[in-house]
Amino acid sequence: PVLTRDILKSDDHLVQSFADLNALKQQGARTAIVSAKGTMVTDSDGNELIDGIGGLWCVNVGHGRREIIDAIRDQLETLDFYSTFYTFTHPAAAALAQKLGQLAPGNLNKVYFGNSGSVANDSAVRILQHYYRRLGRPEKRLVLSRNGAYHGSTFLAIAMTTPEYSKGWDKADNMVHHLKKPHYWREGDGMSEAEFLDMLMEDMRASIERIGAENIACFIAEPIMGAGGVIVPPEGYHRRAGDICRAYDIKFVADEVVTAFGRLGHFFASQDVFGTTPDIINTAKGLTSGYQPLSATIMSDEIHEVISGPDGVFLHGMTYSGHPAASAAALANIALMEQEQIPERVRTTGKLFEKTLKALEDIEIVGEVRGSHFMAGIEFVSDKQSKALFPEAMNIGMKVARRAQARGLIARPLGHILILSPTLILSEAEIARIGDILRESILDVMAEVRG
Ligand code: PLP
Repeated sequence: PVLTRDILKSDDHLVQSFADLNALKQQGARTAIVSAKGTMVTDSDGNELIDGIGGLWCVNVGHGRREIIDAIRDQLETLDFYSTFYTFTHPAAAALAQKLGQLAPGNLNKVYFGNSGSVANDSAVRILQHYYRRLGRPEKRLVLSRNGAYHGSTFLAIAMTTPEYSKGWDKADNMVHHLKKPHYWREGDGMSEAEFLDMLMEDMRASIERIGAENIACFIAEPIMGAGGVIVPPEGYHRRAGDICRAYDIKFVADEVVTAFGRLGHFFASQDVFGTTPDIINTAKGLTSGYQPLSATIMSDEIHEVISGPDGVFLHGMTYSGHPAASAAALANIALMEQEQIPERVRTTGKLFEKTLKALEDIEIVGEVRGSHFMAGIEFVSDKQSKALFPEAMNIGMKVARRAQARGLIARPLGHILILSPTLILSEAEIARIGDILRESILDVMAEVRG
């Protein structure tokens, strides 16, 4: 009852994430979303907008799905909360862990739950450090990550993230080394894609030799980089990185916080899309389609065998690990995806989405449209030939996003890039509409900046 729209008029207490807090204070230019259904959301002025970012890469099955809402309510009525600490467990977490073991590739059968992608990524590193300590190699504790990566906002996750996201902010820097960003279109000057891939692998190998494999616990990588600008690596990248990891006894952690649960047409992308089975898959977001906060760190039987050996306790845990309501939401979400064959459908509709957006590349200020299925990035350039960017202060992505929103589409600006990660249930007509809105919005902005 207190959650009326009136609260928005006096809202100056909420500290928002990754926001220009000063601009919010001065201009108060917030968009309050008050309700949502299916592929659409409604803002506080009553505008209905296509949710082109799926909440935040997460509302995969669409908004307001009765089956998930009922499952959460039923679970809360039966068991509102119990932890998975010590010897305690409960049916929802146990059933979900079993289900994830079935869905995940290879021998990834054991699941540690957390409540966010950041926590999943931190957890993976802590677990692997513990694993190597138990094997008598406590010095194997560092992480290889990549420029362009986004892995979250805790001290370690932000250190594993590309430096642009932390600038001068403190982080667990001394634990992470960043490899080159696998973005051929921007960084592959003068090389064929195959040569670019060789160069990336050589960078990885040389970095390992320099740091010493005996000091490195894991390599962490998103199958497709998301918040770093939707970067699809060259064909074969993950397979070859996996081979290097195995050769040096470095564990491969796939950050599938975004790419899992149908976004690329499969429950997990690592094996089915990129042909590699990591040692750990981390996921969150689409795991519950965002209806509840939940993450999973899905590890191999082999890692679990070592960390569950004799001598000592697993010294890691969060109160809400495997929260009953979140676990019930995930089970209902997965059941829905299976019943409606959502990943399979994405292989068709996601491809249409990809093609529709790719067509925008004929616009003069669109440098590259990239991504796969329902994960897309549009990079704007002031000059197609030289790929020169517009001045940062021009905020080109934001300009296009504002125009798109005025036409009924939410997209996410990221500097000179615009990101789309919609619900996975878009109709063909909605996909066409998104293409039209983006074209009109980009042309408007082009007319404005070109005068
Ligand atoms: N990893 C990836 C690939 C992400 O995109 C995100 C969030 O966007 C995270 C990790 C962090 O997840 P969370 O925001 O739930 O901590």
